[in-house]
Amino acid sequence: MSDYLDRIRGALVGLKMPRALEALDHTLHQLEQGEITAIEAIDTLLSEEYATREPRRDDVALRTAKLTPIKTLESFDFSFQPSLDRERIAALAQLDFIRRAEVVHFLGPPGTGKSHLATALGVAAVKAGKSVYRAPLADLIDALTQAEREGRLTEKSRFYTRASLLIVDEIGYLPITQGGANLFFQLVNARYEKGAMILTSNRGFAEWGEVFGDPVVATALLDRLLHHAVVVQIEGASYRLRSHADLIPEHVRANAPISPPPPPKRRGRPPKNGAAAQTHG
Ligand code: ADP
Ligand code: MG
Repeated sequence: MSDYLDRIRGALVGLKMPRALEALDHTLHQLEQGEITAIEAIDTLLSEEYATREPRRDDVALRTAKLTPIKTLESFDFSFQPSLDRERIAALAQLDFIRRAEVVHFLGPPGTGKSHLATALGVAAVKAGKSVYRAPLADLIDALTQAEREGRLTEKSRFYTRASLLIVDEIGYLPITQGGANLFFQLVNARYEKGAMILTSNRGFAEWGEVFGDPVVATALLDRLLHHAVVVQIEGASYRLRSHADLIPEHVRANAPISPPPPPKRRGRPPKNGAAAQTHG
């Protein structure tokens, strides 16, 4: 054991990795106590070292956080989205909501800049040294589902719980299974009042029962996600379609309601394939 340690220390000195060397003893202690896994120990040592190597640190952190392609508030054209209060977004960019473990919701139709603003706040947070992770809801749930199947759910949840800011993008585009909704609820519950989140959705809160396929889970989710929350509603036209406005039917173009009215309720059993009513935004 001490042979290994001597060799590792020698290698860290030879490779000029002073931060990793400094973190070695504490990390090994955590590993021996079972507080972290071997993978986490390697990650800690390498990240500690990497973090000191500015300015590459930002690059690596932005990629690890899945914040590429990078978006910034400077590149956001507020004049295109007059319903949006620029001062309010600037206040969010001060990042106090992260310290207060609050939840920021961006709501609005497709193309109105929800993901752009969420990513831009994430980028600002990374530059301020915060740990950030961004994922579309469907990917997040897929990863949790797979981890559960492979008996790694605790580890995976810990990964998503650890970031000081978790950005969950694209809530409402794809239907969520009941198992998926439960896994997301567990994650939200684990972060509740501990870590900040930014959520983006094209669906109003009243439709979350439909989005998550279960009104009880949706209510429990919203209970946590609206307790310490900032809701930014964007009403406007799609920036993606701005140069094709004349090709888009009027009802899709501007000020379309945040989502179409829910489909009529069907009685009886859901269809065999379990598909929920799908509404793509
Ligand atoms: P949403 O998530 O609301 O569907 P996005 O944020 O993905 O929309 O925006 C779609 C595209 O348009 C992205 O490339 C984004 O950077 C750009 N975009 C949207 N709104 C603006 C804006 N007001 N100024 C500059 N770029 C914008
Ligand atoms: Mg988006």
